[in-house]
Amino acid sequence: MTTHVHTPLRHPLVFRTLEVQRVETLTPHMRRVVFGGDELRGFVSAAPDDHVKLFFPNSRGEIVRPAIGPDGPIHAPGVDYSPMRDYTPRRHDAGANELTIDFVLHGDGPAASWAAQAAPGQTIGAGGPRGSMLVADDFDTYAMFGDETALPAIGRWLEQLPAGKRAVAFVEIPDDADRQTLASRADTTIHWLPRGGADAATGTHLEQALAAWTLPAGETFCWIAAESGRARRLRQALEGRGVAKDCLKATGYWKAT
Ligand SMILES: Cc1cc2nc3c(=O)[nH]c(=O)nc-3n(C[C@H](O)[C@H](O)[C@H](O)COP(=O)(O)OP(=O)(O)OC[C@H]3O[C@@H](n4cnc5c(N)ncnc54)[C@H](O)[C@@H]3O)c2cc1C
Repeated sequence: MTTHVHTPLRHPLVFRTLEVQRVETLTPHMRRVVFGGDELRGFVSAAPDDHVKLFFPNSRGEIVRPAIGPDGPIHAPGVDYSPMRDYTPRRHDAGANELTIDFVLHGDGPAASWAAQAAPGQTIGAGGPRGSMLVADDFDTYAMFGDETALPAIGRWLEQLPAGKRAVAFVEIPDDADRQTLASRADTTIHWLPRGGADAATGTHLEQALAAWTLPAGETFCWIAAESGRARRLRQALEGRGVAKDCLKATGYWKAT
């Protein structure tokens, strides 16, 4: 069996103000926001599952982020800091100086609520990406399991895979109308798994699809992103089927409360 070498990259931490250039309703539960602005220049995102920390307006409509000390963020008492959430750089076009982020409209929450009302001219804050993990490019197949919050990373990954690779994606979405058209040069199969109104935290379509899936011949890298408890159980299911640690990455993208 090949030993696969993944490459971690660190980037200097940069905080930016992002200006909304335009917004687009992609599907009933996904809103695309394209950001620009002078401070976006120099932005780097090297891996499809990178994330930036976005800072949304606080109760007074201001962006207030913590200072960064040698041991990380410093929160002063009594300060009304901006709510901060993780999002995937869906696309970065350095030439056009544009960063695209796709927001799931899941209901209430500072990020989803902000995205639902986002309009050109508004600003938010962004930090990072601080690091990227470049997954080895010598697997035969890349298999992705995710809910709708994973769709930006999955879409970006499929777009960057070269011809000659195989990709299989299992994507749980709220409804059939939330399917997206995803381009890829790889030999790609996408399984759309609409929940039909069921709760994203307790959905079972990904689990059932994984249980019914036969690992393809050759070497496969498996990637999982979903609600934290579900991501952990999906990872355990793959580990139970003998998928090695260096062939597997699972991340909780949100926590059910
Ligand atoms: C590395 C990484 C990359 C991510 N990339 C993206 C991305 O590109 N696009 C994207 O939309 N999300 C992405 N997420 C997920 C996003 O950060 C969370 O969904 C986040 O909690 C949303 O914040 P909020 O302020 O809207 O809701 P919160 O204030 O965090 O939560 C409010 C309530 O909503 C629930 N909730 C949160 N998210 C969801 C959800 N998706 N579905 C149903 N209920 C939910 C919570 O359990 C809570 O009860 C990513 C997360 C990580 C860790």
